[in-house]
Amino acid sequence: VSATSDVVVVGQGLAGSLLVHALTEHGLQVTVLDPGHAQAASMAAAGSLSPCTGHRYTAPSPLRAWLSPALALWSEIGARLGIQLIRPLPVCRLFREPAEAEQVQRRRATDATLARVLSAPQSGSPMGLASAPGHVHSATWQVDLPGFLERTRAWLMHTGRLITAGLPNGLPLPTPDRAGWLGLELGGTQIRARALVLCQGGNGPNVSALRDLPWRLSRGTALYLASHANFPMHGVSREQALLPLGDGRYWLGASYARVQPGVLGDTPPVSERESVLEGLSALLARPPATSVLEWRTGVRPGSRTDAPFCAPLPNQPGVHVFNGLGSRGSLLGPRCALALATHIANGAPLDPAWNPWHRRA
Ligand SMILES: Cc1cc2nc3c(=O)[nH]c(=O)nc-3n(C[C@H](O)[C@H](O)[C@H](O)COP(=O)(O)OP(=O)(O)OC[C@H]3O[C@@H](n4cnc5c(N)ncnc54)[C@H](O)[C@@H]3O)c2cc1C
Repeated sequence: VSATSDVVVVGQGLAGSLLVHALTEHGLQVTVLDPGHAQAASMAAAGSLSPCTGHRYTAPSPLRAWLSPALALWSEIGARLGIQLIRPLPVCRLFREPAEAEQVQRRRATDATLARVLSAPQSGSPMGLASAPGHVHSATWQVDLPGFLERTRAWLMHTGRLITAGLPNGLPLPTPDRAGWLGLELGGTQIRARALVLCQGGNGPNVSALRDLPWRLSRGTALYLASHANFPMHGVSREQALLPLGDGRYWLGASYARVQPGVLGDTPPVSERESVLEGLSALLARPPATSVLEWRTGVRPGSRTDAPFCAPLPNQPGVHVFNGLGSRGSLLGPRCALALATHIANGAPLDPAWNPWHRRA
């Protein structure tokens, strides 16, 4: 059996899936390798998209500029796949301390994007929510990441472009032959392509060529709860968030535990799940006894410099990495995928800030 295409994409999480769509728009043929999504962070993620996260209410300037293109790309891909991929999800952000009100005021006065997405701070907390010194309403969006991965997978399967096998971590990366083809042999299938892109999420650091990148990995666990009369229609957040998923379920999460490479797939301790559930009392005035439908866990593949890894590998012609999206995949992913696809299609330069080898040179 053989598969010849322009590009082989290894990993079909958020990064690999976005890249496949962007490459296809350039008219390139793609083969995708992924054994399944059992360990994909994208399947555990809330998919919330906002340029402003955290309690310092900052939005670094590239992130502000990426908001509109990200929203546009998610809607476009959703229309192509025939699903509603992105929807507005207002979130009430409860303050942890009174000083947050001044932070918000200051940011809104100096930053037009933040003034658009954050309301003026208000004191106390809205009815039904846990008591707080103040709160702010945030315009946030939510991307249906599990739906995106599943639909994209079905489309790839249907068009014969998915190989349901993983690239063994220890397999030496291919070098181009005289005609410029990269060749791989996987379980009896010969795969040939002009370019190879490594999008393995939290498994990335286990690949020797990527081991030395400045990774920052954190495991996150989220719970899926059945709706309850005490739950608000909008999202609410503080340390954690309770977000309606629009299908009768709520997403509650997430934990944050720094982990070392290699632990992908480890089951988090029960205490981690319990502490996520206990977090409900910091969000709601009367947290109900609620049934947990499911829990999911994933490793956020972050970068210590906060910049994604989206670059060609040095000394490995034709091989690229697309990873390091951390906890902002929904916002950073679209911009990187479009740029990487254009780079592969016609050699357009990539942002040097996304090149982890360049940064350290
Ligand atoms: C609990 C939690 C909550 C989060 N919430 C948000 C949020 O609200 N908003 C947001 O923007 N981000 C959020 N994130 C972060 C977001 O999930 C990541 O930024 C994003 O999913 C990373 O996508 P990825 O494709 O790089 O990795 P993944 O989604 O992990 O995908 C990697 C894929 O590669 C495949 N793979 C691995 N190794 C191989 C191999 N050797 N061969 C073939 N395939 C392989 C895996 O099967 C997997 O499908 C959250 C993360 C977690 C864990």
